[in-house]
Amino acid sequence: MVERRLTGMIAAAAVLIVLFILWDIFRPDPRPAGAGEEPVGIVVVPDTTIPAQPAGTAPVLPSTQATAGGALPAAPYHDQPSYIDMLARSETRRRIRNSAGSTYLNDMVSASEDSMLRRWDNRSMTPVRVWFAPTYAANFQPQFLDAMRRAFAQWTAAGVPVRFDFTADSTTAEVVVRWRIQFEIERTGQTDLTWDQNGHVQSAVITLATFDPKGRPMESDDVRVVALHEVGHLLGLDHSGDSTDIMFPTAKVRDLSDRDVRTALLLYQLSPGSLR
Ligand SMILES: [Zn+2]
Repeated sequence: MVERRLTGMIAAAAVLIVLFILWDIFRPDPRPAGAGEEPVGIVVVPDTTIPAQPAGTAPVLPSTQATAGGALPAAPYHDQPSYIDMLARSETRRRIRNSAGSTYLNDMVSASEDSMLRRWDNRSMTPVRVWFAPTYAANFQPQFLDAMRRAFAQWTAAGVPVRFDFTADSTTAEVVVRWRIQFEIERTGQTDLTWDQNGHVQSAVITLATFDPKGRPMESDDVRVVALHEVGHLLGLDHSGDSTDIMFPTAKVRDLSDRDVRTALLLYQLSPGSLR
């Protein structure tokens, strides 16, 4: 009996062992599942934190590059004005067209090759520095300088927001006035301007003759009249087709007309630069 009971216990133990082994083999392994979930949790966190840093940095980098890159497209910028620029130019053209008749800015722009408005910045506060070059030209008289200064001052007095300072020396001058005896062609004065790509006048040289094209010596008031015309060019005006304006190519009048003044005042209300 004892033997049979032992055999039964051994058999039961064997069955238990086999069951244990079987259970151990086929039991679901919690660690891979747990490990499978944990990495998901870990991945999720890095997925949100790692992009968070680039996301935080990324907007900074592109905007910095965009700002820096803003300098790079500078060249095409001039070829392709922005929408805002085009609107502004269109408005400027409209104002110029509407002024036709009361000013000659419209004629000036249609006659120009580059459709560009050129003018000084507002120089009411910091006058344009003018230097009168010394000269030994025959018939030059010191009162010619006073006549010149009066011509400059007449435009300022008419309301053009540009004043002139005549104390500059040759190194600091923006405008040089020089003299010659006569021009080879039919003229008594000439103005050469330099301006930047946006139409801002930078400097100028005004040359005046001490004798007219027929060889007659210039009088002081003749110098003032010629200078009025040349300072008109200095301010950015071109020629008028009306002989009652000082900006008529061969000036017939001796003072600024209302149209001269209106044209200059309008020019200084508009932004310089291309109108295209
Ligand atoms: Zn002229």
